[in-house]
Amino acid sequence: MKQLAILGSTGSIGVSTLDIVAAHPDQFRIVSMTAGRNLQLLQQQIRRFNPRLVAVLNPADADVLKSSLGAAAPEIVSGIEGLIACACHADVDMVLSAIVGAAGLIPTMAAIENGKDIALANKETLVSAGSLVMDAVARKGVRLFPVDSEHSAIFQSLEGHRRRDVRRLILTASGGPFRNRALAELQRVTPAEALAHPNWSMGQKISIDSATMMNKGLEVIEARWLFDLPAEQISIHIHPQSVVHSMVEYLDGSVIAQLGIPDMKTPIAYALSYPERLPLDLPPLDLCRLGTLTFEEPDLQRFACLSLAYDALREGGTAPAVLNAANEVAVEAFLNGQISFLNIPKLIRATLENHQATPLEHIDQVLRADRWARTEARRIIDTSV
Ligand code: NAD
Ligand code: MG
Repeated sequence: MKQLAILGSTGSIGVSTLDIVAAHPDQFRIVSMTAGRNLQLLQQQIRRFNPRLVAVLNPADADVLKSSLGAAAPEIVSGIEGLIACACHADVDMVLSAIVGAAGLIPTMAAIENGKDIALANKETLVSAGSLVMDAVARKGVRLFPVDSEHSAIFQSLEGHRRRDVRRLILTASGGPFRNRALAELQRVTPAEALAHPNWSMGQKISIDSATMMNKGLEVIEARWLFDLPAEQISIHIHPQSVVHSMVEYLDGSVIAQLGIPDMKTPIAYALSYPERLPLDLPPLDLCRLGTLTFEEPDLQRFACLSLAYDALREGGTAPAVLNAANEVAVEAFLNGQISFLNIPKLIRATLENHQATPLEHIDQVLRADRWARTEARRIIDTSV
């Protein structure tokens, strides 16, 4: 029986994870869970999964939750300390890290330092602090399993092969809702249009990241740290059907890929149960019905965020943390109607240009760079409207 902590239980990944746990009660037990503000769903989850410890963002919400659950309430804590307590609970074997954004960094790091294995959905953690996270993983001897579908595909395509035989990783990307939109029209697209992803159902932030393709940029950086390969050996293919989840090309020209329907339950379950595979109640992949799979080069003019991410990765140090934080501010500003879609990459670029990157030695530097970038990006928004 694997004992789990779920960070971000009310999100898209959190809910899919709990579905898997509910279908396999003999394999998993939920020790702790955390959520931001969705108290209604959290309350249902507490009743259903009976965790020992729960964390919410605000102390006031902890009180509301306690009184509405009454005698059935588990221990309920709040704030960053609460997140850390859930991630580090003594009974926890594995932490599913599925908070959105850099907010996931501290609890994920705390879990690693406490010797917990990690199932990582929160890619922003590796983007902001990849070298420090991977150092801690090695130092503590914990295992870190990718939940992101592309990285799960690469992880699976590397199994049984020698790392030194790898020529490159090929990340696939759907291209999002604006792959074929005229460039001139992109200036006017609305948040609702950007949130309508053609293949995947996901949280708001990653849906906007998919529309700008910053998601793929963040995933290139994530892959760099998970698989220890430089940017030059990580390519991107646009693959609108989202069936080939990613590939590894070997020195002899062989390409090994993992395929499946676009449903996050498959990579989540593999991270939770590795090396076993759990039976999942999903429709099979029907290649004959699909008929055609297509691939194309990404258009770097349309998707400026891709170049920004590669540049930040090459610059290294604090640059990716600044890229990530500026992106989080930009996405929020776009969703609030403060900036246009095409101003997302412009804002990130302007923030990066004002940043002097330093080599990463300590997590505090990441937190400082993240705070600086948020302030700077907001300043740029305020002074340019
Ligand atoms: P989501 O917005 O649906 O859920 C986020 C969760 O984090 C919620 O439980 C929310 O309450 C919590 N949360 C948000 N802000 C918080 C904060 N400041 N402190 C504490 N908790 C907070 O997001 P999601 O789509 O489930 O994505 C979660 C992570 O997984 C992201 O890093 C995303 O990039 C990654 N991911 C998601 C998918 C997907 O299909 N949704 C696929 C691959 C990777
Ligand atoms: Mg992905």
